[in-house]
Amino acid sequence: MDFPNAGPNTAGHNQWYPFMDRPLPEQVDGVLQNPPVVPLSNVSALPSSARYVVVGAGIHGLSTAYHLAMALERSGKGKGSDVVLIDKQGPGAGATGLACGCVRNLYMTGPLHSILRASVEVWESDPVNFGFQQVGYVSIGEENQTEDYIKLNQSQIDSGYPSDLYTGDDAHRFLTSIWPDFKTDKCDVVLHEHRSGYAGTHMVMWGLDQKCQQWGVQRVYGVEVTGYDMGSGNASSGAGGGVGGGSVKAVETTAGTITCDQVVIGAGAWTPRHWEWLGGPNTLDIVYPDGHIANDHAMWTYWRLLEGEVWMPPGVDYRTADGKDAPVLHVELMNTPVYGDDGEMIQDHVYTYTRYAAERVGAPGLQGGTIPIPIGDSAQVEPYGHLSDAYQADEWFPEYYCKTLGMLFKRFENLEPYFKQRRNGGIGAFTPDNVPIFDHVADNAFVIADSNHGFKMIGVGKLTADMLITGEMPWELTPFGFNRFAAGTTYGDRNSNCPWV
Ligand SMILES: Cc1cc2nc3c(=O)[nH]c(=O)nc-3n(C[C@H](O)[C@H](O)[C@H](O)COP(=O)(O)OP(=O)(O)OC[C@H]3O[C@@H](n4cnc5c(N)ncnc54)[C@H](O)[C@@H]3O)c2cc1C
Repeated sequence: MDFPNAGPNTAGHNQWYPFMDRPLPEQVDGVLQNPPVVPLSNVSALPSSARYVVVGAGIHGLSTAYHLAMALERSGKGKGSDVVLIDKQGPGAGATGLACGCVRNLYMTGPLHSILRASVEVWESDPVNFGFQQVGYVSIGEENQTEDYIKLNQSQIDSGYPSDLYTGDDAHRFLTSIWPDFKTDKCDVVLHEHRSGYAGTHMVMWGLDQKCQQWGVQRVYGVEVTGYDMGSGNASSGAGGGVGGGSVKAVETTAGTITCDQVVIGAGAWTPRHWEWLGGPNTLDIVYPDGHIANDHAMWTYWRLLEGEVWMPPGVDYRTADGKDAPVLHVELMNTPVYGDDGEMIQDHVYTYTRYAAERVGAPGLQGGTIPIPIGDSAQVEPYGHLSDAYQADEWFPEYYCKTLGMLFKRFENLEPYFKQRRNGGIGAFTPDNVPIFDHVADNAFVIADSNHGFKMIGVGKLTADMLITGEMPWELTPFGFNRFAAGTTYGDRNSNCPWV
């Protein structure tokens, strides 16, 4: 199907958004460099030593650096400048810069509900500078998902994250009370999370970077970490705590070596490389709660995401019946096929998520996606995201995404001409059970491997900072240790239609 290259821009301005009308970024050795999504200012040179080195200026690295610097200053236990944040590009050069920005607690994995509660507390702490819109989150399933939704709703309530559950006619009434033109067929169970919403990815990068500056973090951008000096210790010996054991004496970079006491790694899709440098295994035997074992399982699996953006047709909006910015919408109708204009089935299911995205689209518009696609245990990570020729959203995606919205809303029955044709891509590194690992990979090196769940998990950086200040692992993080794979507490018993479990 042919789409125009540019849809109508009702705002009449051309908001500058990376990778659309922007010139290509610089190349190093023939490889395009993923650009940061905020302008860089007051960048520090790499010092020769620091108490804390944080690697990666995505959501986790920036949140850790900000919360740690603030906690050091406030507790009198140190200075904000004790924290050195290193990124080979700058804020948002990885997944964080292109995430859809949905903030939700829709997980079948119960322990994640407390991580999300802690995260939403951070989003709520400064919604303006984090670009957080607390519009709520509405997820919809078919009847066969009712039992899962009941469990999920209870677990959210137990973790201090209130949500409402509706089934049958109540579900239909609830949906049409928000969107009178909503087509409720097959929408048998609905969960409404009140505290969830979405955040502008560029805004939160800007906000966190500013907060790091304000608390004195030494922000070293344009410097790449090339390895970790483990001194005379053996990273893969298994001695000491963490995954591989050993201690990092210094972080090696393209600007020299920096000695340090503690390292935190928030490297997104680049995590497997850091993991290997630190002595983490490439494969492992995984024990599940029912006793079965998966031998020689790959440590990391890459998935590519399918997402895109669409302008609003003239006169159409994504507002509620009472004129408010509408909740983020997530729909899984796994027994409902989606057909194209030619009558051919595009996919045998509706799996779609959508949020209002004017700040992203450059005019009133939506951003959303569907189930990601597995790549395998190796992937071409550079250049990343929209710059990658290898991992763009498939050709069927624009029609599929628009059709799913047309099946759900009368107002969106003719969206295809408004799809914003441009590069859309991004990959993530997932753990063996697709649930995050928050753990030490060496005695003094803590890894935040969010398994590509984590734009929303801004609170993990705060919990990590608490751990570094107090020496105690916060209880919210303990269910995400690496030892679960050997201990038989591997996650994997949940019903989920995609790897966001
Ligand atoms: C298309 C897409 C849509 C998504 N949508 C959502 C969503 O709606 N909601 C949600 O919650 N999550 C979403 N996610 C997932 C989420 O974006 C990621 O889980 C999260 O942003 C990862 O953050 P991070 O800080 O770990 O990594 P990143 O944001 O990838 O940051 C890692 C940083 O580390 C730097 N780095 C890596 N290696 C080195 C090195 N050797 N030296 C120096 N610096 C290095 C990189 O330059 C990068 O800036 C989406 C992901 C993608 C790809």
